[in-house]
Amino acid sequence: MNKVVKFLAYDGRVNVICTNTTELVEEIRKIHDLTPVTTAGLGRLATISGMMGFTDIKENDDHITIQLNGRGPMGALVSVIKRKNKTTKIKVYTDNPHVDLPLKSNGKLDVGTAVGRNGFLNIINKNEITDSNYNGLVPLVSGEIAEDFTEYFAKSKQIPTVIALGVLVGSQGVKSAGGYMISLMPDATEEDIVKIEKALQNIDSISKMISENKSLEDIAKIVTGDKNIVMLENDLDIKYECDCSKDKFEKALISIGKEELSKILEEDGKAETVCHFCNKKYYFSKEDLENLLKNM
Ligand SMILES: [Zn+2]
Repeated sequence: MNKVVKFLAYDGRVNVICTNTTELVEEIRKIHDLTPVTTAGLGRLATISGMMGFTDIKENDDHITIQLNGRGPMGALVSVIKRKNKTTKIKVYTDNPHVDLPLKSNGKLDVGTAVGRNGFLNIINKNEITDSNYNGLVPLVSGEIAEDFTEYFAKSKQIPTVIALGVLVGSQGVKSAGGYMISLMPDATEEDIVKIEKALQNIDSISKMISENKSLEDIAKIVTGDKNIVMLENDLDIKYECDCSKDKFEKALISIGKEELSKILEEDGKAETVCHFCNKKYYFSKEDLENLLKNM
């Protein structure tokens, strides 16, 4: 289970959310046949997406689309987040899942180079019923993802937030993955901030703490320096779910226009479409295409 736990620290002046996404990131690695560095990149995006399902989605009708493109070899990284009560549902993809890069001199996966640093993080919040939009766009800081989202929360949402995201990849796949977000409420004191900064010095990475089987509660205590944290919710989950259908791809085929579709029918006599998020294939026969054209 990909567990998510929410806590309050320092008498409610600080919000904390912690997650273990080891199983989720391993599932994503298999779906997209990822290399170690793209597992880390897309895994970090999936981890922050999972947490944002609980911090940034207010109602079941809201959904968030995240586009991250640093013009690196991975191209775009995309995530779509929805929530149904206590479960966040996410789907992710990257343009180039097979990018492979040498490790950095410190032995870590070079996510920043794979993602690139010359681009933007774009976050679109949308409500399906009212069709209202909130759009937050910030330039990338490092392409390492956690820092880029920290910038987004500070600049676009005006919430001082500490974000850590980590994926540990071994020869057999994902060893551990997870993350945490510490958000300061408007009444957080200077003293709270100093205590948190002190706690964050010289601590292990989130992926290491999870690989050592530390509980999310222990991790929340370590990263905030508050031994008296209060648990708010501990039965939250993140699931990978793609909601694609032949219907959606039919609409996509219609949207390319009569001329293009006639050309496909003439030249290929059929069409095969692939979902970016789950790699499911949808086949359109000659008859399917003829029927689509008839109704256009
Ligand atoms: Zn799909």
